[in-house]
Amino acid sequence: MITGPIAQIDLDALRHNLAVCRGAAPSSRLWAVIKADAYGHGMGPCAAALEAADGFAVARVQEALGLRAMGISKPLLVLEGAASETELTAVLSMQVELTVHSSQQLELILSQRQAHLQPRPQRIWLKLDTGMGRLGLQQAEAVALIERLRSPTGSLASGSIQQTTASGAMQTPPLELAGLMTHLANADDPSHPMTAAQCEQARALAEHFGLPLSIGNSAGILAHPAARTDWVRPGIMLYGGSPLLGQTAAALGLRPVMTLTSPLIAVRDLAAGAPIGYGSTYHCPQPMRVGVVAIGYGDGYPRHAPSGTPVLIRGRRSAVLGRVSMDMISIDLRQIPQATVGDPVTLWGQGLPVEEVAEQVGTINYELLCRLSNRVQRMHD
Ligand code: PLP
Repeated sequence: MITGPIAQIDLDALRHNLAVCRGAAPSSRLWAVIKADAYGHGMGPCAAALEAADGFAVARVQEALGLRAMGISKPLLVLEGAASETELTAVLSMQVELTVHSSQQLELILSQRQAHLQPRPQRIWLKLDTGMGRLGLQQAEAVALIERLRSPTGSLASGSIQQTTASGAMQTPPLELAGLMTHLANADDPSHPMTAAQCEQARALAEHFGLPLSIGNSAGILAHPAARTDWVRPGIMLYGGSPLLGQTAAALGLRPVMTLTSPLIAVRDLAAGAPIGYGSTYHCPQPMRVGVVAIGYGDGYPRHAPSGTPVLIRGRRSAVLGRVSMDMISIDLRQIPQATVGDPVTLWGQGLPVEEVAEQVGTINYELLCRLSNRVQRMHD
């Protein structure tokens, strides 16, 4: 008997969404973004199912090390790059591509490579800040860095940098400039004027230096042709989440990968006026049947989900009543009197788009998916 929450992960849907992505950007190579435990879906099984991707992108060095430890041999890209010296040393020996967003970071990579005499070339992507205002080099910094990397003292050899000793003897193999990357700030709004400007700035710089370019996240890939660059980096769309404001995932041809369910653990008949949950924020307007479901904020279900947040039981819509507790929620069974203990209740997924729940809760699909705790059992099929 199932007693707690289960996130059913439909790996066929994941593969289908990857094909949708390929169809939207057929000339691009594709980093499947599987950071944050594949947006809560389980990094190992998702990486295995996404065999057809050209590589995997993660946020942190630790995540890349984890993938290599799982035996994943595909190209890996670290998008963020914060790392201790030990982590950096470990990752430098594992053929992981790194994103460089500051000259300090580049210095650290160079010095660690020198200190540990890395036997292989290291590929790096330069991140350009075209308006995200978060990580990234300003235009002038990027130009200076590329020129430095390509200067004889850098020292350039056919698009790559070699570190040399004062006497000119090569200490480590080349540091290879793999390309230029930027991240879009408003791609979720297809009519936002900033996206075209961001794409154009990055395109011009990449073209000037003859570098491969990577722009598109999911929204960019689906809504902005200029973001369908040499490499794209889809995340949320792979998991069947809509990246575009006001557009459903189904309308974009995407299938939900995660369906989150948990069983009904009690059915109660409460009197008119009876309060429900902490703070007694909900009072029954009439005598009514109420169900208690084994999911709460301890599982990652959002505590601020208000009364009225939709759930699905026996194929019918119902709604959360009162406050979300750590381990439980209460739901309205007035329209579903036949519901019994053990019935699975869908919190989101098949039949109940995660975007709809996110909107009620005042958050986004990304957050709901990736903050599920490890108390939720993931079942991959
Ligand atoms: N590229 C970078 C640098 C990111 O930080 C992310 C996600 O946050 C992605 C790509 C994937 O974005 P999305 O999930 O919107 O496709």
